[in-house]
Amino acid sequence: MSVEPQVLSALRAEEDDPVKLLRLASLLLKDRIAVLSSFGAESALLLAFVAEAAPDMPVLFLETGKHFPETLAYRAELARFLGLTNVQDVKPSPAALKERDPTGELWAFDPDACCQLRKVEPLDAASLPFAVLVTGRKRGQAATRAALPVVEEKADGQVRLNPLAAWTGKDITEEMARRGLPPHPLVAEGYLSIGCGPCTHPVGDGEDARAGRWAGHSKTECGIHTAV
Ligand code: SF4
Repeated sequence: MSVEPQVLSALRAEEDDPVKLLRLASLLLKDRIAVLSSFGAESALLLAFVAEAAPDMPVLFLETGKHFPETLAYRAELARFLGLTNVQDVKPSPAALKERDPTGELWAFDPDACCQLRKVEPLDAASLPFAVLVTGRKRGQAATRAALPVVEEKADGQVRLNPLAAWTGKDITEEMARRGLPPHPLVAEGYLSIGCGPCTHPVGDGEDARAGRWAGHSKTECGIHTAV
């Protein structure tokens, strides 16, 4: 499913203002756009922008079955606080889990296969109706994201909107505080980038926020943003 070139041009003209960008995207794309959110450490700001622009826009949450209980509670609290009316859990297929991860410990010895099973494949299926997915990725998060455009065309024709691409961690923290957005409860415990429980650790002072993700492995991405 592709997006018309004139729509992409119109979106690029609004890429400096996240709320205007999301409002225009909702208007032009109608039911062809969804948000992807982990309800993690910095998710509240993008979701606040979505709530301001189009509170009924679908928000897809990858319910891997491995999240911290605090994340699941925060998902509910934040949706309520912001007035988001269309948050959807995207889950792995029970049959695939039974066949490929019967003990639930695949993450420990093959995290790529676990992310494929619990994130990539469910998202591929859930995102089929959507030509555009909105993400909260930022250029400063990782070397792999350094050149991230706000309007990103992928090889398969799908488009990702990254309204916060140019925002720094400091910008986000300050704007979250200015808006009075509730923080993820684990941020206070040193978790600055939050994914599934078994694969996320707190980081020390001065460490990169994503240093606690898949610590001890060369893995830096789960695959949902690198797959085409
Ligand atoms: S982050 Fe860890 S537990 Fe979650 S899907 Fe990936 S490997 Fe599995």
